[in-house]
Amino acid sequence: MGEWTDKELGLHLPIARRDFIGGVAAGAALATAPKALAQGAPSTAAPTSDYPPALTGLRGQYPGSFEAAHMARDGDFNGELQAEDSGEHYDLVIVGGGISGLSAAYFYRQALGDDRKILILDNHDDFGGHAKRNEFTYEGRTILAYGGTMSIESPFPYSFTSKKLLADLGVDLTSYHRYETKAYEGLGSATFFDKEHFLADKLVTGTGSKPWPQFFAEAPLTPAVRADLTRIYTEKVNYLPDLTPEARAEYLRHISYQDYLLKHAKMLPESLPFFLGHYFRNNKRVDTLPAWEAALGGRMPGFAAMELPKQITAEAQHFHWPDGNATVARLLVSRLIPGAFPSDKLDQESVVLAPARYAALDNPANSTRLRLRSMVIRAEHIGKPARQTEKAVRVVYVKDGKRVSVTGANVIMACFNMVIPFIVPDLPQAQKEALHYASKVPMQYTNVLVKNWRPWAKLGVKSIGAPNGYHIGASLDYPVDIGGYKSAHTPDEPVVIHMVRNPNQPGLPRKEQNRIGRAQMLAEEYPAIEREIRLQLQRMLGGAGFNAARDIAGITVNRWPHGYAYTYDTLGDPDVPDEQRPHVIGRQTFGRIAIANADAAGSAFTNTAIDMGERAVQECLISRGLI
Ligand SMILES: Cc1cc2nc3c(=O)[nH]c(=O)nc-3n(C[C@H](O)[C@H](O)[C@H](O)COP(=O)(O)OP(=O)(O)OC[C@H]3O[C@@H](n4cnc5c(N)ncnc54)[C@H](O)[C@@H]3O)c2cc1C
Repeated sequence: MGEWTDKELGLHLPIARRDFIGGVAAGAALATAPKALAQGAPSTAAPTSDYPPALTGLRGQYPGSFEAAHMARDGDFNGELQAEDSGEHYDLVIVGGGISGLSAAYFYRQALGDDRKILILDNHDDFGGHAKRNEFTYEGRTILAYGGTMSIESPFPYSFTSKKLLADLGVDLTSYHRYETKAYEGLGSATFFDKEHFLADKLVTGTGSKPWPQFFAEAPLTPAVRADLTRIYTEKVNYLPDLTPEARAEYLRHISYQDYLLKHAKMLPESLPFFLGHYFRNNKRVDTLPAWEAALGGRMPGFAAMELPKQITAEAQHFHWPDGNATVARLLVSRLIPGAFPSDKLDQESVVLAPARYAALDNPANSTRLRLRSMVIRAEHIGKPARQTEKAVRVVYVKDGKRVSVTGANVIMACFNMVIPFIVPDLPQAQKEALHYASKVPMQYTNVLVKNWRPWAKLGVKSIGAPNGYHIGASLDYPVDIGGYKSAHTPDEPVVIHMVRNPNQPGLPRKEQNRIGRAQMLAEEYPAIEREIRLQLQRMLGGAGFNAARDIAGITVNRWPHGYAYTYDTLGDPDVPDEQRPHVIGRQTFGRIAIANADAAGSAFTNTAIDMGERAVQECLISRGLI
């Protein structure tokens, strides 16, 4: 790892020059945001740009945005909490400006009218939660990327509620095929074998398209591992011959894919590093993936000759905007807040290049206000709320280092489940325990703007898997032209390389792996992350002419220590009816405080975040006898 010098990787220049040559020099300050927190009243770091999507460096849950929540977790705000009373009162205060919180505001206005006063509080400098937009500028051209939520997609169909909301926002889910270009036609996949886990550094093209014997023949593997991997990918053997299809499915649900490969397919333990390059829904890995999930869809080897019960599958439609589902958040804000966008009638196309006016988000003249850089540290009832009580809940948040309070007739917690017990201390103990059950998945979406993608075209690939790599893979960003936005059409044009990282600790239970991965992420400083990014790209693509020092024009690291909502699996979670699941127990209304957010659905998707927003609104209305 050490053989590449800083100069060769382009790390010798000052950050303001190396990341932003030809681009916007907006965000370097965030790479080293202040950790100092004044007298228990922390300040979220003030970024240097008034247009957050253009900030580069360390984004996502960036330093300075979350410390107050950790202080709440550590008990720093226990007991009576002093705060400056702003005198502001709202019909509804929403904690969290992600898709769930924004949808809740939308549904509340639909139910009670646009003039109802709503305040949305979010700790970040940008709205959308995980659905974040990244923008680069290179040689006068705006290049968009998604910092989190990638697409409209889901393993189950959208509910009527979420589909209707998208339709109201001017989105036609059947129309996506109109926008995807053919720029990457003919490009396939490759796998990067690293010398730390295989015999040498080598990029082998044709993953999944070349015949497996040829693919593995080119890979730097020992003869025994090569033969073993070739066998598992080609032989047609039923490794569980004595079970009926139903019994097989049941068995596979309770054994990990790793154990299945070792115990039943008799693979060599030395072959397993190859499988560490695969990640599955909700970032399970070979050791935490139920073998049943590996068998579904026929993507993984080992099940070719096995009869299994038929599954009914019905997926949601697919739609990808250049900034991912940040577009959904932007459309919602355009409907909720007059002046936040040039028009309140934007649709799936006209929204793409529409500039957001951040200064208009918290305008006292509007009935709905969105207040950023505001971390809520307490939501508590004021006395015992009767149905008629107006000022039912006091909400305290920290902004610019100051604690401020507002009141609301209702509050919706559209944040993270695990933070709620710390900021709503009066919740019943059983509910607190249920809210603590889940452990969100740590994730990093790294966007690297490169000046061209000639090395990729030369190799004939658009995506690279990197078993055991710092990032588990890298791919050319989606080729989508929509609403006047043009993606790269030729290899000579700049493009974003999207890289995915999911730190974990193989061998431990999944939730434990998530916790360790999260701690690792929070401990990493930006310079170390940047070195890993440059080094990995150099090692993977250097042979095809890539030069990190010359070719990289900008980097945005979207770090999500609290990423996907936790979803249950058949290995680590008790098999109980839904009503006994922690997310259902945890999301009960508490007086005037309702709980939205994707965690409350036990599902990490946009549609469920929307559905939870709608459910929470209904509960608010019921709590006040309004329906
Ligand atoms: C990297 C990534 C990729 C994904 N890709 C997809 C995809 O392709 N398709 C899909 O359907 N889904 C995807 N998901 C899941 C999807 O993004 C989420 O399910 C959904 O956006 C969650 O919305 P939410 O509003 O519930 O939560 P969030 O988006 O997390 O929003 C909650 C907001 O509340 C804020 N908050 C938390 N505590 C406080 C507090 N105390 N005070 C103030 N604010 C607070 C948070 O910081 C955050 O901004 C992805 C998620 C991640 C992390």
